[in-house]
Amino acid sequence: MREFDYVIIGGGCAGLSLAYELEIHEKFRDKTLAIIEPRNDYVRDKTWSFWKVSAHNFEDCVRKSWDNFSVNIPDQTKYIHCGNLPYQSIDSGLFYEKTINTLKKNSNINFFKNINEISSENSFIFNSVNDISDGKNDLWQHFSGIEIETNKDLFDDQIFNLMDFDCEQRDSVHFFYTLPFSKKNALIETTWISGLNHPSNQDYSIQLEDYIKNKLKIKNYEIKFKETGAIPLFYPKNIKKINQMQIGTAGGMTRLSTGYTFMNIQSQSKYIRENFENIQKVNNFNVNSKYKFLDNIFLKVLKKNSEKMPQVFFKMFNCPPNTIINFLSNKSNIFEDISIILKMPKFIFIKELF
Ligand SMILES: Cc1cc2nc3c(=O)[nH]c(=O)nc-3n(C[C@H](O)[C@H](O)[C@H](O)COP(=O)(O)OP(=O)(O)OC[C@H]3O[C@@H](n4cnc5c(N)ncnc54)[C@H](O)[C@@H]3O)c2cc1C
Repeated sequence: MREFDYVIIGGGCAGLSLAYELEIHEKFRDKTLAIIEPRNDYVRDKTWSFWKVSAHNFEDCVRKSWDNFSVNIPDQTKYIHCGNLPYQSIDSGLFYEKTINTLKKNSNINFFKNINEISSENSFIFNSVNDISDGKNDLWQHFSGIEIETNKDLFDDQIFNLMDFDCEQRDSVHFFYTLPFSKKNALIETTWISGLNHPSNQDYSIQLEDYIKNKLKIKNYEIKFKETGAIPLFYPKNIKKINQMQIGTAGGMTRLSTGYTFMNIQSQSKYIRENFENIQKVNNFNVNSKYKFLDNIFLKVLKKNSEKMPQVFFKMFNCPPNTIINFLSNKSNIFEDISIILKMPKFIFIKELF
């Protein structure tokens, strides 16, 4: 069986981002890489959105960028300008096409469906696959979205809605999220933060239909695309193995309070590329521990006070736009952290510290 210097298990967002970052920096000129990915076809399956707080390799896969967003609770809306840190949305279909086309040009890079097809005993492994099936009782951000097309201009495509809490909460935390790609076209998602053991929250199609008809007042539309997902808001249990590094969601790249992962994956890929020649010896890239600490408290509060969370999220956006965006994107300084903390209701947060 063929041997490879490096193996990436899982050719999804993290696996392909890493392979691409290494390839464009010519790390496989005289080294070999096997990518293990079971799927037969790469088609658009996700929309990755984030505030552009740093440069990334996928500017040409950005479907739309916004300089304004809104957040609302019943009877109140905040409009926020984010012109110097725009919010971007990446079409995963374009991402897969770009990365795979580039990687396939290098004969030192090969794709396999199963790890048993190669000999990996002497390889360094980057693993993006993890078993988190035992986390059903933990918190997840679970959601479903549809991209719809209307025959009239019904959306304002200059502003997206990050969180609309004006909807039923069912003892959980629930909001809708709308990304208008054009005046006739938008992705609308229903998002819950809860355990996965409440199937009653998972009637996503009914929730979306009701929201589009009764809140957005749109009667006629065609569904162009659908995505459903669940992001674990807890870290996978990783046992450190020699010659192996966990990447992506499996490598703890998700911000637990928000589910944002894409930009952390890009930072992790860059870190691995910078340390590639020494990879056996360096520690893995980590989300800064101050965010892990603050997010854990935040989620404890959320679990016990779900009914207060729309107000808590809403108040957070009283901070200047750069402060809140930097905080949510792991780029905040101590002064920005303090100004966010001061916006939180003191009593319920202090209780969770002890
Ligand atoms: C629908 C959806 C939308 C999201 N939207 C956003 C967003 O807007 N912004 C953001 O920051 N984050 C978002 N996330 C979170 C995160 O960015 C994505 O989940 C991202 O795809 C994580 O990358 P990954 O490589 O860790 O996992 P994946 O992209 O899921 O890649 C894992 C890969 O492993 C493969 N695989 C599975 N089993 C095996 C096996 N046994 N052997 C080998 N390969 C295997 C899978 O086929 C898959 O290709 C979203 C998540 C989902 C599910």
